[in-house]
Amino acid sequence: MLTKQFETVRHPAQARTSLISAAVSLLLIQAGAAGAATAASYDDMPEIAPIGVRIAHYLPVPQQARGPTVDPAKGYRLEKLGNGLYMITDNAYQSMFMVYEGGVVVVDAPPAFASHIIEAVREVTDKPITHLVYSHSHADHIAGARALGQVPTIIAHAETRRLLSRAKDPNRPLPTVTFTDRYLLKVGTQKLELSYHGDAHEPGNIFIYAPDQQTLMVIDMVFPGWMPWRRFALAQDIPGYFAQMQEIRDIPFKTLVGGHVARTGTHADVDRQIAFLEDLRVAATKALGATKPGAGLDAEVAAQNPWAVFDDYIDRVVIQCVNQLTPTWSRQLAAYDIYIWDQCYAMEQSLRID
Ligand SMILES: [Zn+2]
Ligand SMILES: [Zn+2]
Repeated sequence: MLTKQFETVRHPAQARTSLISAAVSLLLIQAGAAGAATAASYDDMPEIAPIGVRIAHYLPVPQQARGPTVDPAKGYRLEKLGNGLYMITDNAYQSMFMVYEGGVVVVDAPPAFASHIIEAVREVTDKPITHLVYSHSHADHIAGARALGQVPTIIAHAETRRLLSRAKDPNRPLPTVTFTDRYLLKVGTQKLELSYHGDAHEPGNIFIYAPDQQTLMVIDMVFPGWMPWRRFALAQDIPGYFAQMQEIRDIPFKTLVGGHVARTGTHADVDRQIAFLEDLRVAATKALGATKPGAGLDAEVAAQNPWAVFDDYIDRVVIQCVNQLTPTWSRQLAAYDIYIWDQCYAMEQSLRID
């Protein structure tokens, strides 16, 4: 039933293949080449366009994945999360700030809306920005730091400082205060508990918990209502990523700030993402067990070209993984169609080598 539905919204795989073949033939004629790679379809090819093929029609974004709209004239949206704590978002990136008696603590400065952070703070208070906390070293979450002017105290994990020293990026000034395990930031009557739970997304990526507001900020781990960005949001340690999801689940937060997408998250969002990851792990494990390297491959090619053997084997594993997950998950997580191939490729690789 679902396959039928995809057929109506996507180029059938066969049509794509013949288009690619036609293009390759043309190239051969033009270049007079002696040989060139050509495309052929696998059995049971999913209708969801694989990596490198344009998706003709994207699956609709489910209602539960959407958030309040952003006023385009303003360019950001401010959301109160609790006593003096606010989220700023452009519905793609998220950062936070906390107001205390003597000033303001900003957590992350995505360059996407860096020019609006001071405006957003000024909607609430005239107090100066005294502290900046970096969740992790990635430029897309903190390279708006310079736009905040001179901030007296910048706090981050020691590993983040090491990575930033290496990057030498003037838009990401070095932290002035670092820690390795835990750090309690007490300012006036407000507090933020910073803690490190090991490598998952990136070494140095920390949990930022506001206990009075029951708000947890962890970046690039949970994507409320959405498929994680490709390859588990580029997790540097995939077993670590899976394990850290459980640690996020165990924290008694009411609101989760994940750093991306249009809304904050809840425990239900964390549970849904864990259920998806578990189904993905099972599907890839099953596909690896059921697939034989080299099966159906030309014997001469198999003997000469080990990369071809792996390419063909891994493709067939991933195709089964995608087919297994599509009926359950294609309508539950926004952007399933965009990243499912990436997730299956990352999963099968992690299961083979980690
Ligand atoms: Zn990141
Ligand atoms: Zn990110």
